[in-house]
Amino acid sequence: MSIEMRGADVAKAMKEELIREVDALKAEGIQPCLVIVRAGARPDDLAYERGARKRMELVGIECRVAKLPENISQKELEREFSDVNEDPGVHGILLLRPLPGNLDVGPLKAMIDPMKDVDGMSPENVAKVFAGDEDGFAPCTAEAVMEMLHHYGISLKGQKTAVIGRSMVVGRPLSMLLMKEHATVTICHTRTADLKEECKGADILIAAAGKAGMITEEMAGEGAVVVDVGINVNEEGKLCGDVDYDAVMKKASYISPVPGGVGSVTSSVLARHVVRSAASCNACSHLRGSNAE
Ligand code: NAD
Repeated sequence: MSIEMRGADVAKAMKEELIREVDALKAEGIQPCLVIVRAGARPDDLAYERGARKRMELVGIECRVAKLPENISQKELEREFSDVNEDPGVHGILLLRPLPGNLDVGPLKAMIDPMKDVDGMSPENVAKVFAGDEDGFAPCTAEAVMEMLHHYGISLKGQKTAVIGRSMVVGRPLSMLLMKEHATVTICHTRTADLKEECKGADILIAAAGKAGMITEEMAGEGAVVVDVGINVNEEGKLCGDVDYDAVMKKASYISPVPGGVGSVTSSVLARHVVRSAASCNACSHLRGSNAE
């Protein structure tokens, strides 16, 4: 029988520490602040935004949303983004992606202050994650998977780990984080020759492909740790992951559900990044001590 890796339990464990850290910053006169930049109103974005706002509120982080029209021009988007980026009262910026229509995220990645880049999209942060430099911000979802593995005491050193997906948001940065902790990582993708064998041979299997139920029982090794990052809607219109949960749980030692798994940890990691950014914010140095009695 497998142990369920519950995102809510991981988020709860992170909450107390976050509240303490936010309180300490407030006592120094610093109010940590996140701005979510959203162009358009995709249902996925709105759902993520709701979860993020709720989490920020819970731990005392101010959260604002820059709501931009779906048909905004590239020039106007860059101007709005630049205003948020240059606001000294803002410590973290989350740009909801993908952007609508023909809007290009490239200039925004280049423009964002790496210190405010709490979802790790700037070239500086990408390079740091790939270099194993912990000063950088990794994308929140990739770090949420690590948080989950740590919380459940999963040993990574020398473990054969298959990551399915090679995107810059999940698969690649996650593979770097796993490798930094000495896992032996295989990155699988659409051109992987024998996906079943790669998965079956893994001690730790992480699915981030975005294909409902693609990980079947026969693909999981006996006793494997299975983490499901996928968020999909199945034929019945229900939210589900990439793993056929009911079948794979019979073989897995640990398994994360969808919903209720990694997704529930992502916004806590986001909050932690905002706190880290606020704590090291140079523009805030004049505020330090202004609340002291
Ligand atoms: P993406 O589409 O950018 O990348 C998917 C990757 O999976 C690609 O590298 C592709 O090569 C690989 N892939 C797709 N089908 C495959 C197959 N049949 N066999 C092998 N490899 C295959 O997606 P993404 O942005 O990396 O997101 C992946 C999933 O994670 C999506 O379901 C997304 O909704 C979800 N997601 C979850 C969170 C969270 O907080 N839990 C956050 C971001 C993304």
